[in-house]
Amino acid sequence: MTKDIATRNLNDLITKVEAARLRVSGHHIVKIVGVSKYYSSSDVEELYKVGQRAFGENKVQDLKQKMIDLDEHPLEWHFIGSLQSNKINNLIDLNPTLMHSLDSIDLANELNKKLEIKNRKMSCLLQINSSYEESKSGVDPKDAINIYKQIVETCPNITLKGVMTIGANSEDEAKIKDSFMITKKIFDDLKEFNPMYCSMGMSGDFELAIACGSNLIRVGSTLFKSE
Ligand SMILES: *Cc1c(COP(=O)(O)O)cnc(C)c1O
Repeated sequence: MTKDIATRNLNDLITKVEAARLRVSGHHIVKIVGVSKYYSSSDVEELYKVGQRAFGENKVQDLKQKMIDLDEHPLEWHFIGSLQSNKINNLIDLNPTLMHSLDSIDLANELNKKLEIKNRKMSCLLQINSSYEESKSGVDPKDAINIYKQIVETCPNITLKGVMTIGANSEDEAKIKDSFMITKKIFDDLKEFNPMYCSMGMSGDFELAIACGSNLIRVGSTLFKSE
């Protein structure tokens, strides 16, 4: 990616995010995480040079490689993929800023145990399967509040900071909106825990997600496109 393209992509995205968030409220701030999973470390560096700081990866090995490649820059790294048990210790060692994909009580218990052994903490979001798609990870919306509470009470090394969802995989905007509204409702119902992030919205649906209350979007292809 050239500097001109990085500038254009980031400006276009910020312009759209700005308009979408102002339609919600002037006080509604939206964080942008650039999802670099299909792109190179040098593409990430170009976006860093024009001002983007937060990036996300969905594989522990790829996250590690990019962190090594870009070690000299003050980047913020997010983990957004399914976490296999045998990769938990590796992820802990990488100390990501935020892990978006805590998707079961079993994973929470296992992660907490390994964090305890290493005397470390990790900030996480509870992933919710609000589209009820079998191919997607996440807890069932009806169990989300109880599981969130249970993790807060029994996993002291996990700092829960909110919720994450992937919008329904559909052409039907109403279906996508439903999955976002379900997640936003859970986020609102968690008020007693002071959740910080409602992570929803990707390249194809971030404006709708923001309209539904998202305050963190994960954008890959739109930010990294080279055309
Ligand atoms: C790949 C991915 C994204 C970004 O998707 P784009 O459509 O390229 O913006 C966001 N969130 C998760 C969990 C992903 O795996």
